[in-house]
Amino acid sequence: MNAETRIKSCLVIGAGMAGLLAARRLQENGVRVTVLDKGRGVGGRMATRRFDEGVCDHGAQFLTVRDKRFGALLDELCAAGVVREWAKSFPDDRGTLLPDGNPRYCGVGGMNAIARHLAAGLTVQCSETVTALNVEDGRWKVTTAGGLSQMAEALVLTPPVPQSLALLDAGNFVLPASIRGELETITYDPCLAVMALLDGPSRIPEPGGVKITQPPIAWIADNRRKGISPAASTITIHTTPDFAREHWETTQEEIARMIFSEAERWLGANVRNWQVHRWRYSQPVVTQAASFRMPCLLPCLLVNSAPPVVFAGDGFGGPRVEGAAVSGWAAAETLLADGRANQ
Ligand SMILES: Cc1cc2nc3c(=O)[nH]c(=O)nc-3n(C[C@H](O)[C@H](O)[C@H](O)COP(=O)(O)OP(=O)(O)OC[C@H]3O[C@@H](n4cnc5c(N)ncnc54)[C@H](O)[C@@H]3O)c2cc1C
Repeated sequence: MNAETRIKSCLVIGAGMAGLLAARRLQENGVRVTVLDKGRGVGGRMATRRFDEGVCDHGAQFLTVRDKRFGALLDELCAAGVVREWAKSFPDDRGTLLPDGNPRYCGVGGMNAIARHLAAGLTVQCSETVTALNVEDGRWKVTTAGGLSQMAEALVLTPPVPQSLALLDAGNFVLPASIRGELETITYDPCLAVMALLDGPSRIPEPGGVKITQPPIAWIADNRRKGISPAASTITIHTTPDFAREHWETTQEEIARMIFSEAERWLGANVRNWQVHRWRYSQPVVTQAASFRMPCLLPCLLVNSAPPVVFAGDGFGGPRVEGAAVSGWAAAETLLADGRANQ
């Protein structure tokens, strides 16, 4: 391999599952990588919030495995004490338990512990909101709200696709029309997450999660039963996408009031404190494979511009943490292979 033509530096936008695994793969192959994220910590939608003495997972609730390579990563994370099996199934609100035998895994102490573990050894700069991406002197230039500006030979974009496109627009970078058109077909559902600290145990049964079949609630979990909130009973409630769309502009107080009233049978104790988080892009509804009608495609999209940019994330790999992971790996390997192809 000609070391002169191989990519030597890369900027990765987003420190969620896709961005972290892309960065690790690139770094393992000798590429200098910087990961930038607007969040205060790493993890993206694998999110854990601490408030008062309670802890809540308010984004992804658990991991599932289909892909062999992701399974091997989970084995490693379990052996390192970062991940453990939570349950093999959850009941629905009619009390029906449908065990499918597939384990659901969670982060020990919270889902974002997984991201913190994967970020170790990487250069990750949090609280850096990227505002524009453009090409200067044949290299990608990233500009952040805090005034940071960095350059690299390649770029991996892992935010939800509409956010990635907005960053390229802000830098006046024009994508080929056909690629732009395909990317614009990738769409996401919103979700409102309501978290509450209770003054006693909830009525959510073991193992601590219930699939709700009646809108406006889709899921309710007890984070103490899950094992991540030892000092206090906290619950996480996710709304249906329709409710989130209808109430996107509704005040947090009104959302909390409506959702606690709907969830009354599961509460079992008084709400001492609460928070609401709005996920505008919670999970992709139409992913790249579906929009391209070519499921054999790699779970990422390389734009063979000079310099190259790869789009990745669950919008390409599928609407789960696992989908984001396989997309992150594919993004790194596509860039590494692209460097070799150009030699
Ligand atoms: C409510 C909810 C419940 C879910 N439940 C599950 C579940 O139970 N199981 C499951 O497998 N999956 C679940 N998911 C989906 C799962 O969380 C995602 O598929 C996965 O985490 C996506 O990872 P990602 O790396 O593609 O994107 P993200 O995790 O969203 O990472 C993208 C990162 O880009 C950063 N970013 C965006 N814009 C900028 C910018 N301008 N500058 C800097 N950084 C930026 C963001 O801060 C973010 O950290 C759920 C998601 C939500 C929201």
